[in-house]
Amino acid sequence: MDKDLMKKVYEKIEGYRDEMVDLQSKLTAIPALGPTNDGEGEEKKAAFIKEWMEKEIGFDELEQHDSPDDRVPSGSRPNIVAIMKGASDAKRIWVMAHTDIVPPGELSLWDSDPYTVKVEDGKVYGRGVEDNQHGMVTPLFALKALKELGIKPATDIGLAFVADEETGSEHGIQYLIENHDVFKKQDLIIVPDAGVPDGSMIEVAEKSIYWLKVETKGKQCHASTPEQGINAHKAAAHLVTRIGKLYEIYNQKDVVFDPPISTFEPTKKENNVPNINTIPGDDVFYVDMRVLPEIKLDEVHETILRMAGEVEKEFGVTITLSPVQREEAAPATPTDAPVVIALSAAIKAVYGVEAKPMGIGGGTVAAFFRRKGFHAVVWSKIDELAHQPNEYTHIDNMVGDAKVFARLFMQE
Ligand SMILES: [Zn+2]
Repeated sequence: MDKDLMKKVYEKIEGYRDEMVDLQSKLTAIPALGPTNDGEGEEKKAAFIKEWMEKEIGFDELEQHDSPDDRVPSGSRPNIVAIMKGASDAKRIWVMAHTDIVPPGELSLWDSDPYTVKVEDGKVYGRGVEDNQHGMVTPLFALKALKELGIKPATDIGLAFVADEETGSEHGIQYLIENHDVFKKQDLIIVPDAGVPDGSMIEVAEKSIYWLKVETKGKQCHASTPEQGINAHKAAAHLVTRIGKLYEIYNQKDVVFDPPISTFEPTKKENNVPNINTIPGDDVFYVDMRVLPEIKLDEVHETILRMAGEVEKEFGVTITLSPVQREEAAPATPTDAPVVIALSAAIKAVYGVEAKPMGIGGGTVAAFFRRKGFHAVVWSKIDELAHQPNEYTHIDNMVGDAKVFARLFMQE
């Protein structure tokens, strides 16, 4: 990599601070809420950013793929796909971000108007500035710098600004992957929609999620004569301790994840009887499980079913298991995939940190790519204020992440 040229690009990006804040302000002023959040969808925000991209940068291709949705006034949810041609078209580097936001929530918790960007202590505040406008602004200014300096990227660069990420992605990335052949197996795909404050986490994998409702039926009676009833709470408590054994049964480790093990935790408990001197005839508790991808959820379910059977026999209760949420993990992006290697090098060059490919316990939008066999990673340098009041992002991080993208786009 040409050091002097790289320096010029970095300097150019440093000069965009005010413009980045300006773009954040304009995007924040157009709330893009999906219809399930009582919003009009992303049409206005998409129209604005498309025009901005044409005027401020200029792309070789700039298309909009609409997913029909009659719940919004425009009748569809916009997905923008922009391509800037590089020296080679053998593969593309993609950055995918989403245009929609979540509602601000309780307004009294905000120190300023969520839809008017406030700048303070090097941060921009407003709903959407981090989630996910940070992820739109950063690749855009990387490309603006290259364009203004007359530098052709090493390979074709693609931007996908999609709708509907916050409410299921059916009209966003899912629609794009299913209906338009824009992504290729050899492409490098980066989703700047999660991260850590020092920018060292590259998310490559996720655990399966399984939430289970456990209902135990016994027989209510007076607490002084327990022999006349069946204590559902006591029986359920025995099942809770048996469920703890899942940690020993499924004790596989994978150091990509933090924590490196599967977790099986009893969590919510529904109210039973209002008074102390009643033996409860009903008990309901819930289990939150985050399971390593190599372990099948069916197998875990069978094991819990067997444990429940033992408790039923021992106590004479009836136990019903009902899944509340069940999401089998997508195959992981390999830790040595080209996208991980290239992105790590760029992060190291700009921030001086050794990035780590990691797995997390919750689902991310990258799973839609991974299920289709595309190697996608999630990365950005953010404080993770997503969905919180007083959401902010650091201007320094916008500048830094734009440099990382620029460097990545110039890398052969
Ligand atoms: Zn997001």
